Amino acid sequence: MNENNHHLVHVDGVVKNFQGPAGVINVLKSVNLTVQPGEFVGVRGPSGSGKSTLINMITGIDHPTSGKVSVAGEAIEKMSENQLARFRGKHIGVIFQFFQLLPTLTVAENVMLPMDFCRMWKPRERPERAMLLLEQVGLADQAHKLPNTLSGGQQQRAAIARALANDPPLLMGDEPTGNLDSKTADNVFTLFADLVAKGKTFIMVTHDVELAKRIPRLVEVYDGVLYEQGTRMKDEGGTTEGQSEEGEKMTAEPQDLRERTNA
Ligand code: ADP
Ligand code: MG
Repeated sequence: MNENNHHLVHVDGVVKNFQGPAGVINVLKSVNLTVQPGEFVGVRGPSGSGKSTLINMITGIDHPTSGKVSVAGEAIEKMSENQLARFRGKHIGVIFQFFQLLPTLTVAENVMLPMDFCRMWKPRERPERAMLLLEQVGLADQAHKLPNTLSGGQQQRAAIARALANDPPLLMGDEPTGNLDSKTADNVFTLFADLVAKGKTFIMVTHDVELAKRIPRLVEVYDGVLYEQGTRMKDEGGTTEGQSEEGEKMTAEPQDLRERTNA
C-alpha cells in the first residue's frame, strides 16, 4: 500500500521548466500540495505565476520536469499517454474558462463523449445518463441544441455536465467563471459548492475575490511557489508582524491576507 493512498491529489516537489527564447524558464519551483477527498481548494495568484501550469501537472495534460504527481493513489508519470487519457476520463473532470464544447455536436452529445471514450455505462444507457446530468445542471431543455445557440452560463453548465459524465471523484476548473458575468458566475459557483457538498473534490483557479471568500481552503501560487493562504508573509520572513503573536493570529485569519494581497 502506498502511503499516499488516502490523498486524492499529491503533488510532491514538482518543478516545471519551459524552454523560452532566452533560455530555460523555471515556472514551478518545487511545489507541494496535498488534497484530501471532499476538499474544495481555491488557487489564486497573479497572472503568469504558474497556476495553469500546476493544473496541467495534476490533470496530466503536461508533465513535471522533476517531482511526482499522484491522483487517487496512481502515479501520473508512470502512465502512457493512452492510459493517462483514460485515467483522466474516469477520475478527473476538467472545466475550462472557454467551455471547450465541440461545436458540431449537440449539448447531450458533448456530455456523452467522455462516456463513449472511456466505454463507461452501456451504450444505450448513455443518452439517459446525459439527460440526467443535464437536468442536474438545469439544462435539460437545451439538450438537443448546438452549444453556440446557448448563453455563456448555459455553455459552462453543459461543460460541467460533461465533466461529470463518468462520475469522477475530482473536478478541476481553470478560471471556470472567468468568462461569465458576476450573476452567472455566482450561479455556476453555487453549482460547484453543491457538488462538493455531495462529495466531489474540487480544485479551482479563480481571480474572483467574492467567490474566493466562499472557498474553504485557499492556496496562492506566487512566482512558481505555492503557499497555503496566510503563510506567504511568514515564509518571506522579513516582517516582525509574522513573528509576533499578532502575526500568528493573522495567519489564522485568511480574510486579512486575502484583502491585502489582492490588489
Ligand atoms: P497563470 O495560469 O498563473 O497565469 P501559467 O501557468 O499559464 O500562469 O504560466 C506561467 C508562466 O509560464 C508564464 O510566464 C508563461 O508564459 C509560461 N509558460 C506557460 N506555458 C508555457 C509553454 N508551453 N512554453 C513556454 N512558457 C510557458
Ligand atoms: Mg492561467
